[in-house]
Amino acid sequence: MLIGAHVSTAGGASKAIARAEDIGAECMQVFASSPRAWKVPPMPDAEVEKFKAESERAGMGPTVVHGKYLCAIGSPDPELVEKSVVALTAELQTAVRLDALGVIFHPASHRGQGFDAALPQFTDAMKRVLDGAPGDALLMLETSAGSGDHIGSKFNELAQIIRSVDDPRVAVCLDTQHVWAAGFNIADAEGLEQTLKEFDSEIGLDLLKAVHANDSKKELGSAVDRHDNIGEGLIGKDGFRNIMGNKAFADVPFYLEVPGFEKGGPDAPNVEIMKEIRSEVAA
Ligand SMILES: [Zn+2]
Ligand SMILES: [Zn+2]
Repeated sequence: MLIGAHVSTAGGASKAIARAEDIGAECMQVFASSPRAWKVPPMPDAEVEKFKAESERAGMGPTVVHGKYLCAIGSPDPELVEKSVVALTAELQTAVRLDALGVIFHPASHRGQGFDAALPQFTDAMKRVLDGAPGDALLMLETSAGSGDHIGSKFNELAQIIRSVDDPRVAVCLDTQHVWAAGFNIADAEGLEQTLKEFDSEIGLDLLKAVHANDSKKELGSAVDRHDNIGEGLIGKDGFRNIMGNKAFADVPFYLEVPGFEKGGPDAPNVEIMKEIRSEVAA
């Protein structure tokens, strides 16, 4: 189990590696371009080579690329779906070029049309993204907190998408805060067992390829996506001991997306807490 974090690529993707090292991260998540703009300018070859050389030098674990928050392939607006497919394809192409594990994206909202109505277009969009970015990088659906019309707070919805796309490159990233907000009590031993049992029967634990490790500012079942620093939120350090001690997560990389104790994003203290918990549960 590697402990990683989301880090900034300001100044170029290769600059992210030193930032990850600075906070003690063993693997990292990055954006392929600004998460709040549609454009994904192609990364220059030289930057890709530098990134790979830096990763190698630092002995970094698997890199994941986080998709844009703007993307919504379940939306009834065809223009939005089209833009989302173009952006996600470019992000997956970047992930392939960086030898990254894959792209993690939010299934986002069906915007009132209903999950069943959105499923065929969602499937078609994912197939187009995969076809447009050949290679080994995975396309990972992230579990959602379930606010409004957001897809993916129920494992069954992700399972339907996965079966419908039917491609070995489709996998899942479990966000600890999102599943907590969606009503899964992963902080509790029995709650975690039930959650993993449901995940396994619906999706299959073999498709769990990444974890977003975030504590929660909001209560269990709140459906609100609000991350907290590890130990400062309602999942708490005991909750993370419970999660990290479970064998289902033994070989899955963890990526922090926490606000940071100084509000500057994932930081050394959060990484250190996760490493301490990891050694406690291994003992
Ligand atoms: Zn997340
Ligand atoms: Zn979130």
